[in-house]
Amino acid sequence: MIEFKEIDLQAKAPNLTDGGRWSQVPLVQRIDPLTQKSTRLLTGVKLQPESPPDLSELAAQGGFCPFCDGTFENVTYPFESDVVPAGRLRRNRAAIVPNIMAYSGYSSVGIYDTSRHFLGLEDFNEELIFDAMYLMVEHGQMVRNSRPDLVWSSISANYLPSSGSSVLHPHLQSSHDIEPMQIQRELASGTERYHRINSGSYFDDLVAKELGGPRFVGRTGSISWITPFAPRGFQEIWGVFGDYGDVVELEEDALRELADGLCRVLRYYKAGNFSSFNFSMVGGGPNASEHGFKLVFRILVRSNPDRYYRSDVTYFERLLDEPLIDVPPEEVAASARSYFIESV
Ligand SMILES: [Zn+2]
Repeated sequence: MIEFKEIDLQAKAPNLTDGGRWSQVPLVQRIDPLTQKSTRLLTGVKLQPESPPDLSELAAQGGFCPFCDGTFENVTYPFESDVVPAGRLRRNRAAIVPNIMAYSGYSSVGIYDTSRHFLGLEDFNEELIFDAMYLMVEHGQMVRNSRPDLVWSSISANYLPSSGSSVLHPHLQSSHDIEPMQIQRELASGTERYHRINSGSYFDDLVAKELGGPRFVGRTGSISWITPFAPRGFQEIWGVFGDYGDVVELEEDALRELADGLCRVLRYYKAGNFSSFNFSMVGGGPNASEHGFKLVFRILVRSNPDRYYRSDVTYFERLLDEPLIDVPPEEVAASARSYFIESV
């Protein structure tokens, strides 16, 4: 019922190892079974970094930081008291405050650790991630109680400037809207369509189909980690939840399983000389559970923040909506799997 469609694009190019003679080059286009979005898998091109980036100059940057202890309390504002009575939410070293740049009906920013201005990938641990995610969910529940019309929620992050982050101090963000984001609309409508035709949950069926296959990475509790058949970016890995169709429903056990899995993914990225990432987890809207929608935590790497870095986002991604992928998801899964072995 889930079709993994792959098309040979019959590419030809001069062969450098054969005096420039024109020959066939393996190049395939893959179509995501749910969204129908297409991706191209290249061969013979490896855009992955050969050595770890030097982040010392970046990490040592001084100057004003709104998320550091000492400044944080003075320059961030509390939430409206009828939504969040405490104003700001804190849990251990994590905190969550309103985002002063409104990008959603209700926008918040969470800080993993206000006592540390910089965290390398190796510095993220389960406690920091759990605390920040816990606050994001708690805040989302408060927003939903106060504004039941904001039914489209998500939790996402940029990490380091090359991923789009404007503040170096590691943070994550949430959105609560009356309308879905583009991908939320596509995932929710695709899931609804699949449920209508097949009477099942697309994501349950996807996990069942991928279990033990070449794109299966591992499990942390009820979350299955896989690589997507048609990735949207480099080294993309998904954590598909066994339950939960909305981020405001997430309970402690699931958040601990998410923190466990995310730490493993970050360790894998670190070992591959990557340093920057984006992640996102979108809720399926008001009919999520009815249609078998399941939360999917999606994470991918971005270019390292070298001084003259080459962006991994080209016109293919920005204007043609057709990502170029250099490492097939099957290879990513094979490499990432060892970081999950003890969890299976
Ligand atoms: Zn800071």
